[in-house]
Amino acid sequence: MKFYNIKNINEQVNFVQAIQQGLGSDQGLFFPIDLPRFTTCEIDSLLNMDFINRSLHIMSVYIGHEVSENKVLKCINSAFTFPVIVLLIKDNIAVLELFHGPTLAFKDFGGRFMAHFLNEINQGELMTILTATSGDTGAAIAHAFYGFDNVNVIILYPNGKISSAQERLFCTLGGNVYTLAVDGDFDACQLLVKQAFDNTYLRKKLGLNSANSINIGRLLPQICYYFEAFAQLFKQQINQRIVISVPSGNFGNLTAGLLAKSLGLPVKRFIVATNINNTVPRYLSSGYWFPQPAITTLSNAMDVSYPNNWARIEELFRRKRWQLSTLSYGSVDDDRTIKTLQVMADLGYISEPHAAVSYCLLSDQLHHDEFGIFLGTAHPAKFKHEIESIFNHNFSLLSPASLLCFNKLPLLSRKISVDFNELRNFMLSLMN
Ligand SMILES: *Cc1c(COP(=O)(O)O)cnc(C)c1O
Repeated sequence: MKFYNIKNINEQVNFVQAIQQGLGSDQGLFFPIDLPRFTTCEIDSLLNMDFINRSLHIMSVYIGHEVSENKVLKCINSAFTFPVIVLLIKDNIAVLELFHGPTLAFKDFGGRFMAHFLNEINQGELMTILTATSGDTGAAIAHAFYGFDNVNVIILYPNGKISSAQERLFCTLGGNVYTLAVDGDFDACQLLVKQAFDNTYLRKKLGLNSANSINIGRLLPQICYYFEAFAQLFKQQINQRIVISVPSGNFGNLTAGLLAKSLGLPVKRFIVATNINNTVPRYLSSGYWFPQPAITTLSNAMDVSYPNNWARIEELFRRKRWQLSTLSYGSVDDDRTIKTLQVMADLGYISEPHAAVSYCLLSDQLHHDEFGIFLGTAHPAKFKHEIESIFNHNFSLLSPASLLCFNKLPLLSRKISVDFNELRNFMLSLMN
């Protein structure tokens, strides 16, 4: 399928170009030119398939015949190697657990698909993935591309400003993964990355790709787990008036959910769930787009005040003639997040702040004749310290083996200052 730049409909690329290029000119996002819809019959048969084959059908809608079905299947098989779990926590509410991948957050789905896909279509040229991270993305990308031939991964992060568990998870890998602890904040890291992309020589010579979350290669695979949630609920005879609450930061996850609905998945409605960084809920209630500086919260992966993917959501609504007023929304501050974590624990479910935000709004806004799903985007072990201090209790069972094992390895990051020359010299040194 072709994809067009939302800022310039005449700029059109195919799937492979879109995934390699990331962004169109003028920082415009790519968007699918066709918005096909499966018939009810096709949806039923999709929901009866296993996760891998169903995901192949879904991804093939967007990839078309550009890449052989065998190759796409190979990518899906290699990327989606961990379970998607739907767990009932009340009679009318289930969690969709998306955090059973290697870096314990839903970003493993998109990151791993993109890595395997780029690896599959690569014809022996050097590729350099350069990304700035404030936490989860770095780990997902580093693990996704770890060990691939012809690929170097360079990840910049603000030294001392990410949690030690987050740092251990990706700064201990070595091999083709290089981590740079920048003596500055996240914005400084992003600026360095941008300077590298603005440098034509580096971009060409090293085959730069940012693998960031607005790349359609990370976005589209996320559609697959919405279908999986429905498949599992249908098996339990739950198949009507299903509402999904999505904890949102950059709004990639919600975009994928809405694309699933556009493909015909019978979602009754979505709830946009944010923390107090609530640019979108304020926009939906007032009609004014008025981002304010981001504030640090417990659900830090959602501390985003300029949500990049929102432009895609508006585009989808415009094309489908859907009304934005059909989106439910709300925002939750840290106090309520903590109270919600306690409520969830009373139900026997130990969660973490991001999922708690989405559960809170779901249980508030769910009608008596609806069934609710909220997304569990990160493993609670990633927030062990926060959760233990909230409950005043030690949860030793919370840590999966992967976290424990990385905790024992030495950090391999090198420190750099906020100086593009230092970054450039380092990047050039990788070519020898
Ligand atoms: C990235 C992230 C989010 C936000 O997802 P978006 O697709 O950016 O809206 C929510 N929760 C966790 C744990 C995340 O890592």
